[in-house]
Amino acid sequence: ELAHTDALTALYNRRAYDQELAREWRRVQRNGAELSVLLIDADHFKSINDQHGHAVGDRVLQALAALIQRSAREIDVAARIGGEEFCLLLPGSDAEAGGRVDRHLRAQLAELVAQLGHPLDFSSGLAVLQPGESLERLMTRADRALYQAKRQGRNRVMPA
Ligand code: GH3
Ligand code: MG
Ligand code: MG
Repeated sequence: ELAHTDALTALYNRRAYDQELAREWRRVQRNGAELSVLLIDADHFKSINDQHGHAVGDRVLQALAALIQRSAREIDVAARIGGEEFCLLLPGSDAEAGGRVDRHLRAQLAELVAQLGHPLDFSSGLAVLQPGESLERLMTRADRALYQAKRQGRNRVMPA
C-alpha cells in the first residue's frame, strides 16, 4: 500500500498511476468504452513557496490534492505524478464529461483560494483515448495539451 501512495497527499503515486492506467487501457481494448485523462499542473507554484515558504506550499498541495480526490468518482483514479502535477484518470468519460470534471475542479478551487488568501490556479490537458492508441501516446497528447494551456496564458484547460 505504501509503495503505491504519495506520502504528502495520500493520493496514488506515479507508479500506482501507471499500473491503473495500464489496467484501464486493457479494459478499453476489451469493451471499447471511453477513457479520458486530465493532466493538471499548478500555475506558478514556485511563487507560493518563494512567498510563503515550503511548508505552506506543502499544505497548499495537500489541499489541492484533497480537492482533486473529492472531484473523483469511485471509479476514477486520482494521482500525484510529479511535484505540483496531478492526474485524473476518468474511465467511461468522453471529452464532454472530462470538461465537466475540469470545470467542477476550477469552481472548487476558487472556493479554496478564498480560504488560502493567495492566488492559486492550474492549467490542464484533457486527452480522450483514441481507437488503437497506446497509453504512452495518450499521456504524451495530454502532456502536450497541458503545455499549450501554459503557453496560452495558464489557468485553462486545453483539449488534446
Ligand atoms: P508553471 O506555471 O510553469 O507550472 O510554474 P511553476 O512554478 O508551477 O512550475 P516550476 O516547474 O517552475 O516549479 C514547480 C515548483 O513546485 C517548484 C517546486 O519547488 C515546487 N514543488 C514541487 N514539489 C513540491 C513539494 O512537494 N512541496 C512544495 N512545497 N513545493 C513543491
Ligand atoms: Mg507548475
Ligand atoms: Mg510542473
